[in-house]
Amino acid sequence: MLPFKLIYHEKYDLHLGAHVFPSQKYRLIYETLLRENLAEPSDFLQPEPARDEDVLLVHSKEWLRKLTTGKLGVAELMRLEIPWSKEMIEACWYAAGGSILAGRRALEDGFCISLAGGLHHAFPDHGEGFCPINDVAIAVRRLQTDGAVETAMVVDTDVHHGNGTAAIFGGDGTVFTLSIHQENNYPMPKPPSNIDIHLADRTGDADYLAKLEKQLLRAFDEFHPGILFHVSGADAYKEDQLGGLGLTLEGLQQRDKLVYEHARRHGVPVAITLAGGYARDVNDTIRIHINTVLAARDVAARKNNASRR
Ligand SMILES: [Zn+2]
Repeated sequence: MLPFKLIYHEKYDLHLGAHVFPSQKYRLIYETLLRENLAEPSDFLQPEPARDEDVLLVHSKEWLRKLTTGKLGVAELMRLEIPWSKEMIEACWYAAGGSILAGRRALEDGFCISLAGGLHHAFPDHGEGFCPINDVAIAVRRLQTDGAVETAMVVDTDVHHGNGTAAIFGGDGTVFTLSIHQENNYPMPKPPSNIDIHLADRTGDADYLAKLEKQLLRAFDEFHPGILFHVSGADAYKEDQLGGLGLTLEGLQQRDKLVYEHARRHGVPVAITLAGGYARDVNDTIRIHINTVLAARDVAARKNNASRR
């Protein structure tokens, strides 16, 4: 049994068919965790879909109407880079509901992982790069509106810059954003996060981890959040089709542990979302996301041991 809950719903699948975004990965991660006895059925919680009023904490009424009715223009669809369907929209509403629930459970248990989400390219009035709505921003605003937290930090380690998240929280002193990403990659331009770590092509494990650690120290020096949302991402992997960094499977797991150890050191609960992952072999993407679960498990277990002493 895991020391925290995993959030999963079969409706997480966007049903994109043949697409570089393997949205069946959510189900494959869920099934693999159970098959390999890394999790048991009682470790999982099912989210409700976000309510429209949750989505409207971040997004414009006009954008919500376009998404729910399918009335997107050609340019809007091209920017989104995924076809519109009822199943796709439902999946995004479930992803946002999953991130809200992950935030709530992280506040209770210290950690929580939703096996979806991390749709960090969505802006208030438009979507981009497979991201119609920004589930993490919605979850942060829901928790703040409910009075569950006053402040939040979003640490985004997806290979792509978290442009939507940076734009949504830009100038907002209650939310601190950190993004570590490949500089020479989508999106262009990159609106400023509080901390942006722009990496050169093919950056490998050692360089990546050193730069991330230095900036995590700085982030926690400057800001003490009520919760940390991790937009993890499997696409900083060296074999990713849409990424150009050089991280190994081991490096990616160390990356996750680094984020969780810094949060733990400062007593900050962590809610985790998966974000991108487009490895040539989908099994690598599945393994990287599962390793994120195991990284959180290891850090959470050490936390329990430390508090027992
Ligand atoms: Zn990405």
